[in-house]
Parts: sequence; structure tokens; C-alpha cells
Amino acid sequence: MAAQAANPIQQRVYTTSSGRPISYATASQRLGNNGPILLQDFHLIDLLAHFDRERIPERVVHAKGAGAYGEFEVTHDITDICSADLFSEVGKKTKVAVRLSTVGGEKGSADSARDPRGFAIKFYTEEGNWDMVGNDTPVFFIRDGVKFPTFIHTQKRNPQTNTKDATMFWDFLTSNQESIHQVMQLFSDRGTPLSYRHMNTYSGHTFKFIAADGSFKYVKMHFISDQGNRTLNLEEATHLASANPDWNTQDLFEAIARGEYPSWTFYVQVLDPKDAEKFRWNIFDVTKVWPHSEVPLRPVGKMTLNRNCQNYFAEIEQMAVAPAHLVPGIEPTADPMLQARLFSYTDSQRHRLGVNYQQIPVNQPLHAYAPWQRDGQYAINGNYGADPNYPSPLKPITYKPVDVNQQHEEWVGRALNPQNFNEVTDEDFVQATGLWHVLGRQEGQQANFITNVSSHLFGADPRVRQRAYEMFGRVDKQLGSKLEVATEHIVQDASKNKTDEIVARLTARTK
Ligand code: NDP
Repeated sequence: MAAQAANPIQQRVYTTSSGRPISYATASQRLGNNGPILLQDFHLIDLLAHFDRERIPERVVHAKGAGAYGEFEVTHDITDICSADLFSEVGKKTKVAVRLSTVGGEKGSADSARDPRGFAIKFYTEEGNWDMVGNDTPVFFIRDGVKFPTFIHTQKRNPQTNTKDATMFWDFLTSNQESIHQVMQLFSDRGTPLSYRHMNTYSGHTFKFIAADGSFKYVKMHFISDQGNRTLNLEEATHLASANPDWNTQDLFEAIARGEYPSWTFYVQVLDPKDAEKFRWNIFDVTKVWPHSEVPLRPVGKMTLNRNCQNYFAEIEQMAVAPAHLVPGIEPTADPMLQARLFSYTDSQRHRLGVNYQQIPVNQPLHAYAPWQRDGQYAINGNYGADPNYPSPLKPITYKPVDVNQQHEEWVGRALNPQNFNEVTDEDFVQATGLWHVLGRQEGQQANFITNVSSHLFGADPRVRQRAYEMFGRVDKQLGSKLEVATEHIVQDASKNKTDEIVARLTARTK
């Protein structure tokens, strides 16, 4: 009896979902000894019908993910540039939940795939949830959200064969060459991080920090891994994809369970609006970084992950992050890719989880009061009871005072035809070339880059391969020609079925 008391689950009487206690839980009710089952067996119907509805829509991107909880602590005062409550004093702590993910693969896909990694942080601040929905790369493939759906189509499956398709993949990237900087990041070994603990996360986009006096600065955010950046090479990543497809998920969970809490140092790069006007790089172009030498990293705080979830589906799968979830003191900018994300993330959460997704415990802000939002599927928080569902003088609501001092950008101009941000020029290759030189300072990294690209590109249509050599040639002439040699060599081998002995043997058996 004493042992039972220590384990409350053994004291629970098993019931149907409507609470009726059940005695024969592993057998259906049947007619006679060997006859058909009965429709009146509610326990059976209840169980099957719930099982049939277990899956919710998979995220179109970032489907495979892991997550954890932790806290963020301010280590440096930034109140001169940001009035957000979570930064109000050094030592202030804010609880966080994070979700880390690959992007292109489905829910069961391998963690070690070459892919950017999503790394979203939900800060439960006193003034609402702030979601920093970052990636492990500081730039992105495209700079206008209108291209996002078609870009993602090309990175997923061919609509006819339902297989991954190197031609589609490279056809898009080489005909939208603003992607080059991110392609360089992705095909460096950072495209296959050793673990979720050993990678950074960046806002990528430029945001605005608003100070208490109403002035604003442009910022880019960096969460740099205190564990260091560690990566897999192609051979290691390929091996893990079959040996342990959940490698990163398992590593994060087990490290936290062991008490080895991973942490990240949070920095911001800060640009004054006056300087932004003269800056070489368009600060609303997410394919560009701000060079560290010109805009140094300013430390803000430290985030530590120290608690695993109890239930993956409830807490991690249902975690709904969105760049539109901002708090006073942090605002979006005109970055067109960010503007598209501001719409798209909340839209997909409403589709995936329903209109009341903010009521799911992991998503609940500390103090939300939005009584004009009523009803809808799964309104489980009491639905604001008898409070007015409109702004009523009979029971007035208080509002946060308007900050009269707040400065704003001024936009003047005509609505242009939708093309002004898409032209690709030599300027788009400058930072990609910069990264090629960064790789040159790290032993073996340029060689690994060539292996990583060629082992993927060889599967593409010859016209697309040629376009790719030209594109990489604009980064560095030698890079273009070395890639051509390496890739065409694999093409030759592949045509002789020499690249993978087992695949060649199995292909022969299908004939
Ligand atoms: P710096 O020499 O000052 O910075 C180089 C930065 O590159 C490092 O601080 C590191 O960023 C990042 N880096 C190092 N190795 C790799 C790698 N294998 N793959 C991807 N990134 C790596 O020069 P710049 O600031 O002028 O940047 C040069 C290039 O570095 C950029 O064009 C960009 O591709 C890349 N980079 C720049 C970042 C920035 O914010 N300026 C951020 C990340 C990459 P970190 O410390 O963030 O890991």
C-alpha cells in the first residue's frame, strides 16, 4: 500500500474520456463468443475515434523539433536603448521556452540533415510574450516574403515523384541569386551542427529597440552558444541520418536531464537611424549581415536551458511562436521578409492549433486580458465570464498610456510596382565572398564546402549545374571552377554507378 501511495498513477481508476470507470479495458464488447463487436461499446469507439484524430497539421516548415525551458538573465544594462520590461535591470530574470528545429524535413526526418536550424525563444515577460523567432544563420535565402512559398516548395518534394529533387533545389537558388550568402552558410559545415547546444541563433532581421525617451535604434540580435560552435562533416552527418535520426533531439534532452545546462550569451548590434542611412548595406535586406568590425556586438544577458518538458506534444509540439508576438520597447521594421512573417506565423498557428492557441498552457502569457476575443474552438480559459465583450463605459478597461515621445520612421513615396527589392547585383556577392575568406581561415573548411556542395549538386540537371558553377564563380573564380571539377567527377562516377556500392548493388537487383 505504501508503495502505491508513492506513485499516484497507480491510484487512478481508468475511465473513458467521459469519466466512466472501465473494468475490461483491453477487450471489445462482442456479440456471443466469436461474433461482431457492438456499436454500443463506447469505450472502444471513444478510444478509436480519439486515436484517429491524434495528428494535428504538421508545420509546413520546421516540422521536426525539440524544445526545453529555461531562464534569461540580464547581465548588462541596456536601458539607454531599450525600455522593454525584461531588460529593466541587471540581474532581472525571465522564464523562457525554446523550440529548436530543422526546416525542410517532415516530422520524422533526420536531425543531421543539411538545413538551417530554427531556434525560437519565447520570453514570458511581465508585458506579454516576446518571441525571438531566430535561425542558426544570420541571413536568409530571400528578402521578400512573396517568394517564400515557392522557395519552400523547391526545398521539399517534387510534386510528381514525391522525392527530394536536386534540380528543383538548385534551380530555385541559382535563379534567385540573392540566396548566395545563405547558400554559403548552409553548405559550410555550420549547415550540419553537431548538436542544438553547439549553434547560435540570430534574429536575422533588423528590429527596433525603443528607449524610455522615445528614441529608437535599429538592432540585430545574436545568441552565441557558450558551448562553442561545433559541426558535423558530411560523412558524420550522413552516418547519423541512419544511425540515429533523433541525434540532436536526444542530445538536448539528455544533457538537460544530466544537469549540463546549455547557455547562450545574448548580444545586440546597434545602429543609430542616422548611421543606417549612410550604411553600405540596406538594413531591411535579410540576406546581409552587419560586419562585426563596423557594428560591434554589445552584450545584454545570458539564457540557460535547465528544464525538460513533461509531455512533448502538449508543450513542444503545441508551442506557437510568432515574430508578431512583440512587447513594448521592441518593434518590427520595414524588412519585407519580416513583414510577411509577421502575418504568416500567427496565421499558421491558428490553422494548426485553432483560434484560441494562446490559451494552450505553454503559450499563455503571464497576464493576458483580451475580453473582446470570445468563443471559437476550444475556449478553455472561462471565456472571460460575464465581462463585457465590447469596450463598455459601464465596466471600463484600463489601457497602457500612449508614449507621446515615441519617434517613428517617416515614410514618403508612391506605391511602386512590386519589383524594387529583387534585382541581384554584384553587391549581393560581397558578403558571400567574405564568408568564403572566413572559411579559408579555418582548417579544412573550404575543402569541406566543396565536398558538401558537389555531393548535392551532382544530382541536378546539367543546365542547373552550369548555372551553379557560374553563381559560385561570382563568389570566387577558383571556387566556381573547383566546384565544377568536383561535381562533374561525381556525375561521371554516378553514371557508372560507382558512388555508393550498396545503392549500385540494390539498383542492379531491381533490373
Ligand atoms: P568577422 O571576421 O568580424 O566575423 C566573422 C564571423 O563569422 C564570426 O564572428 C562568426 O560569427 C562567423 N563565422 C565564423 N565561422 C563561420 C562559419 N564557418 N560559417 C558561418 N559563419 C561563421 O567578419 P564579418 O562580421 O565581416 O563577417 C564575415 C562573414 O561572416 C559574413 O559575411 C557572414 O557570412 C559571416 N557571419 C557574420 C556575422 C555578423 O553578424 N557579422 C554573423 C555570422 C556569420 P558568430 O560569432 O556569430 O558565430
